[in-house]
Amino acid sequence: MEDAFTKLLKGYRSFRENSALRKEFFHDLHLGQNPQTLVISCCDSRVVPNIIMQAEPGEMFITRNIAGLVPPYDTSHTSYHATSAAIEYAVLHLKVKHIIIMGHKGCGGIAALIERQNKEHSHTDFIDKWMEIAKPALAAAESSYKNLPSEQKAELCEREALKISIKNLLTFPCVAQAAAEKKLQIHAMMFDIKEFSLSLYDPAKDVFELIK
Ligand SMILES: [Zn+2]
Repeated sequence: MEDAFTKLLKGYRSFRENSALRKEFFHDLHLGQNPQTLVISCCDSRVVPNIIMQAEPGEMFITRNIAGLVPPYDTSHTSYHATSAAIEYAVLHLKVKHIIIMGHKGCGGIAALIERQNKEHSHTDFIDKWMEIAKPALAAAESSYKNLPSEQKAELCEREALKISIKNLLTFPCVAQAAAEKKLQIHAMMFDIKEFSLSLYDPAKDVFELIK
């Protein structure tokens, strides 16, 4: 079997060959970026916003993290804030018009959160702490439905986590201001890997609707 890295180098060579045909496109890109959309998605290898939405290089500014979560606005400098920095850059400097938060079914981060809920001590250096952002999602999922099979509980939790991320996103003053001035729209999406389909959250109805 071909080594994974060797395969990637082969892919790069093919990219070079094919992209040579689009010399002007890449030449223009090197002059600067002007993406209209920030995407915050899970870093799961199967959730690839550019491919799912067929976006070209330069179209979407993307930050990915475990479970695609948005942390609350927090200016204490006791830790590093990669996602918050990306949000700040996208909203204040790139002036994006849309923010898409993308979660997905079968998220390992959410599964870990559910699994570890009854354990007192953290077992990872970073993941457990990071997943605390979504802890209220678990509580919400459990309070609305009792004794759910684990797969359904996870799905509910994944959806609730997206709602928490929307709420957290709006705690960023730059986001709240741009949204209030109608310069920025926030969208939450759920990707179903098996069905390769996207659902869009409708906050007015509090439902995820399949995009047709
Ligand atoms: Zn995930």
